[in-house]
Amino acid sequence: MTRWRSGTAHSPANASVDALRAVQLERLRAGAAQVLRSNPFWRERLTEINGWDDFERLPVVTKRELLEDQAANAPFGTNLTYPLERYVRLHQTSGSSGDQPLRWLDTEDSWAWWLRIWSDHIYRAAGVTAGDRVFLAFSFGPFIGFWSAFGGAERLGALAISGGAMTTEQRIRNMRDIGATVLLATPTYALRMADRARELGLDLGTSDIRLTIHAGEPGASIPATRSTIEAAYMATSFDHTGMTELGPTGHSCSQRDGVHLVESEFIFEVVDLQGRPADRGELVATNLGRWGSPVVRYRTGDRVQVTREECSCGSPFVKVVGGIQGRVDDMFTVRGVNLFPSQVEDIVRRHAVVAEFVIEHRKVRQMEEVTLVVELGGGSTSTDRLESDLRQALGVRLGCRIAAPGTLPRGELKSTRIVHLPD
Ligand SMILES: [Zn+2]
Repeated sequence: MTRWRSGTAHSPANASVDALRAVQLERLRAGAAQVLRSNPFWRERLTEINGWDDFERLPVVTKRELLEDQAANAPFGTNLTYPLERYVRLHQTSGSSGDQPLRWLDTEDSWAWWLRIWSDHIYRAAGVTAGDRVFLAFSFGPFIGFWSAFGGAERLGALAISGGAMTTEQRIRNMRDIGATVLLATPTYALRMADRARELGLDLGTSDIRLTIHAGEPGASIPATRSTIEAAYMATSFDHTGMTELGPTGHSCSQRDGVHLVESEFIFEVVDLQGRPADRGELVATNLGRWGSPVVRYRTGDRVQVTREECSCGSPFVKVVGGIQGRVDDMFTVRGVNLFPSQVEDIVRRHAVVAEFVIEHRKVRQMEEVTLVVELGGGSTSTDRLESDLRQALGVRLGCRIAAPGTLPRGELKSTRIVHLPD
């Protein structure tokens, strides 16, 4: 789906876009036919799809609908195309947005689809090969990201190493002892590991790590955050996007200015606040290979800006400029200026004295109040320079408050950069 398509009608880029669209439609038609026969959730919402017109008439679906369906039809909900015995894996969302965790079942085929996208797209784009040793600094709880990244590395023929049930120090020592060459972690946790290594007198820059791949937060697409990670590990860092409900959706490339969305396996649309097609807005996605529990026109809640300009890496896929800007819900306004946490992060990470930060946001009598809470390291006690840089870059004043060292969260799962406080 390329409703934001731009450019001249006969450019080579458009020829490949047309070919992609034909593949998408064919896969959607075939998959939707099975789903319509037996999936109660989608039978209520889908109709037969013969052309793009039919697709565009379908309703968009929200996480709330999926959660309500699961609550009303516990424990798995009704988004099931096959009898339960066909499903082989159960995962659940992190519940980090304050919602109940959403459970998700996969069949053997759906799971193979996940792993194929990891090995053929995510790892390939970063340059991971069968010769690599891939260390996953995660707890290996029920969140799907850990397991799919692990299985994808294995499928590629690389050595997949679980960093589950370890302290940060154990992970650092393990990674070095084994000679791991690729690290997967959230950006925040990669930085936490680098800090801990320094405290231990270990230099991760001399380890064998040559690539790092990050997800959960947009950090690896934020220039200042990425260069901090790259300097700490003496490695090249890549961004990856994905969702439990959808699958592994995208990856950054050698051009390092955004995230390509894997259009051979998904249909992506971007809509504005009124639900109209746009270049900038919320990402809506449909997956094309997880027919046991698919999503069609799913509102991701991610705010993006996309471009079809040709990329020097050669990818035919649309690019999210600068990575995901943030959650649609995370936009905040300071004196009439709309801001996303990622814009603040890009300034904050240029200040080496800031160990960690969080944006506190509250509405007081219809006025938005925003405070940047920072942990300072290296004996620093002033935020004057940071405040002045923020004012210059964002065009508005953002007040800072200093928090005690080690009090802000540093998750191995995605960290929340913005906290919406009650009035
Ligand atoms: Zn590219």
